[in-house]
Order: sequence, then C-alpha cells, then structure tokens
Amino acid sequence: MGGLILHNCLIAGGDSVFRGILAIEGDRFAGVWKEDDPEAKAYIEGHRDATLTDLGSKVVMAGGIDAHVHFREPGMEWKGDIGTESRAAISGGVTSFIDMPNTNPPTVSEEALRGKAERAMLSSAANYGFHIGASYGNLEEIKEMISRAEASGRHPFAGIKVFMGSSTGNMLVDRQDVLESIFSIKERVILVHSEDEGTIRANLEAAKERFNENIPFSSHPAIRSREACVKSTERAIGLALKHGTRLHILHVSTKEEVDLIRDAKRLSPHITAETSPNYLWFCDEDYGKMGGRLKCNPAVKTASDRQALRQAVREGVIDTIGTDHAPHLPGEKNAPYLSCPSGLPSISECLSVLTTVFDKEEDLSLIARIFSENVARIFRIKDRGVIKAGNYADLTVLDPAEKFTVRNTDVTYKCGWSPYEGVTLKGRVKMTFLGGRLAARDGRPISGPAPLPLEFSRF
Ligand SMILES: [Zn+2]
Repeated sequence: MGGLILHNCLIAGGDSVFRGILAIEGDRFAGVWKEDDPEAKAYIEGHRDATLTDLGSKVVMAGGIDAHVHFREPGMEWKGDIGTESRAAISGGVTSFIDMPNTNPPTVSEEALRGKAERAMLSSAANYGFHIGASYGNLEEIKEMISRAEASGRHPFAGIKVFMGSSTGNMLVDRQDVLESIFSIKERVILVHSEDEGTIRANLEAAKERFNENIPFSSHPAIRSREACVKSTERAIGLALKHGTRLHILHVSTKEEVDLIRDAKRLSPHITAETSPNYLWFCDEDYGKMGGRLKCNPAVKTASDRQALRQAVREGVIDTIGTDHAPHLPGEKNAPYLSCPSGLPSISECLSVLTTVFDKEEDLSLIARIFSENVARIFRIKDRGVIKAGNYADLTVLDPAEKFTVRNTDVTYKCGWSPYEGVTLKGRVKMTFLGGRLAARDGRPISGPAPLPLEFSRF
C-alpha cells in the first residue's frame, strides 16, 4: 500500500523538538522516531515501497486545531462559508476547526447541529466539529443529548457556548438561575464569551452622549471595557469553582483576567483559557490606522495587556489559541462605529503570528501545545493533536525562518481582506497534510483529501 516517510525534518511536539523521521500508512501515523533511532532505519528497510520525502530541514507539527471559528454558514454566506473558510484554514496549517453556534439559524438544537454537519460533509476542506449554543430555551434538549451521548461514548458537539453578558441576540444568557443550571453540566466544556452587558450598555450610552453618532473606533476599548471583561470573568470563575465546571474562558484580552485565571487554576484543574492572535499582535495604538478593521469583541486593549497575554501563554495560564476567525466584507467594516460589525478574519495567518511572537526554537513546542495538543485534550478530541503512531496523520510543515508580507491580494478568505495586510511575519506554512495526504502547498489548497467529522469522547 506504499505509505509515506517524511525525513530530514525537525519534529515539534508538545514537550520536545527533535530531528526525526515520520511514517504514515493510510490516514494514520505509523511511527515517529529520532533521526538516529535504529528502529527508524529498520522501518525504512522494511518499507521500500513507501514514498520517501525529504523535507529540507523544515519543521513538522501536528495540524492546528482551531476550536473557535465563525465560518458564517448557514445564514451569512456572503461573508464566508464552510468551503471557503476551511480552505483558508488548510492553507494556514489548520487541519481541524470547531465552529461557533451564532449562525442563522443558531446552532441550539440537535437538528441545527445535524444540518451544519451535513453542510460540512459536502463542502469542508478540513476536519470539522461544532459547539452548541446555550439559550434560555434549550437546556433540557442539551442535557438529553448529553445523557444519550454518555451512553454511546460519542458526543455530537465539542462544548456548550455561553454568551455570558454579550450582545448576541437570543443566545445572551445573563440570568443567574439559568447560568447555575448550565454550569452544573460536567460532561462537556462550558465556553464563555465573557463581557458584562450592563457595563457595556452604560459605556455605550456615555459614548453616544459625548460623540453623538460619530464615535471614534479608538473608543471601542472604553466601551467594551476591561471592567466589563473582569466583572464577567469573575462571575464565570465563581460559578465554575462552585460547581466544578469544565470552564474554558474564550479570547482573554486583559491582564486582570490573566491574574484571575492564574489564581483560579490553583483551585480547579478544570478551568482553562484561550486567547486569539489579534490580542497577541495588535494593541489600542492600532485603532488610528485600522479603524473598523480592528473592531472585535472583546476589544483589543493596551500594549501592556498584550505583554501580559504573551507571558500568560508562556506560563501556561492561557492554554489554547483560538483564532475567533470572524469574516465581514470590507464594505461592512468601513461603516461608522455604530453599524460596523465586530470580528476579524485570521485563520490563515494565525500560525505565522504565533511563530513571529514566539520565535525561539524551543517555542515550537509551546506552539504545538497551544494550537493543537491542548485543544485536543480540553475538548477530548479522539486521535488528534499529537504526532504519534495511531493518530490521524494531520500535520503542517513550516519554515520558521521564512519572512513574508501579508497581502489582501493573496488571502483566500471570501471577504478578501486580512487585518494583517502589510504586516511582515516570520514563519511560513509550506505544506499541510490531512489524513496523510497533501492538502495545501505554499498557501494554496489542493483538493483530494477527505476531511472527517471530529470525534468527541467522554471525559
Ligand atoms: Zn467568537
């Protein structure tokens, strides 16, 4: 059956970086060895029909798993769809994604989940999974799905997304009794978008009073303020400690939350956190030149928050990177503050942003953990996230030394622009393999490999 042997490469795993040899049979890894391991030599001897590929000293990592994307399908396909955005993911070394529920209709039922999975099966270029949204009306249905899944051992969704005090229509959950009920679910991860709605509303009213309709984009971090983030994150942590919840705090944007999370982790092993590339790269000084193109929720805050977030990633206080890839058309983003939608595309650039920010050779292990291994562990994704025999052969090959400048003309997003336009990054994705087959080369997706639904196991 042939098989594939990758050699002359630096393999970056979650705990070490070493020169190694990788064997793939079918869609799985068959073995991974240090270069001088006699077993590797024996394997090559015994598999003379395998294709031997020299990677020219490049770095190999497990494919990225992005547990925080908004691919806009169904309901907002003019901004992006599963087909276009998953191809952008593959070009950026992301082999699996988990889509958020704020589509139209929202993913708040078993039927809506099934509908999305059917769409992904037809058009996705990457492995796919979904989070379900918690709303006031669907807790019984969620609990029923969980108890059936516990019996079968296979869950239909990764986690339960709670828009805790965020303005996302019917999915906003703010009532204490409902939150208590959600946080008492132990079988799945509860993901929170953590911003206090009351605080934001008051700030917005004050900004309207001051600026009328002409609110400058530089006011965004004062409106969606650090106080709003801190207040909500304190509340989420309090609930999680009370109930023993598996809590994953999404897109952390402030240094105060980093301190709260560091303390909470001493009290519970089930509290984890994510940040997004945009908070590691941009700061409030960028609103002047980027305007609406930097508007996302929570707001990008100060350079000192950015510094604290980078440190928190290094320390392991922040466990994962989710891109929060959220495309909007340029025309939508050029609108004045009050009508400009929040969200930025970033899934193709994320890995290069990480290799630029964390640019030492030993940092490759850190990146392997936060962009793949930890994500697979936190959401119990079966057989992915680590390069080891038996796991699916999803991987990315990158040249950490290659510099390139992001250009809107090169992006493959349906929306056609990137917030990183004009930015020079260090570390370029050269190839992406999905299930042992080449799925992208030099930023261009190749059709052929068949993506699979992610499998979510019991804890
Ligand atoms: Zn999001």
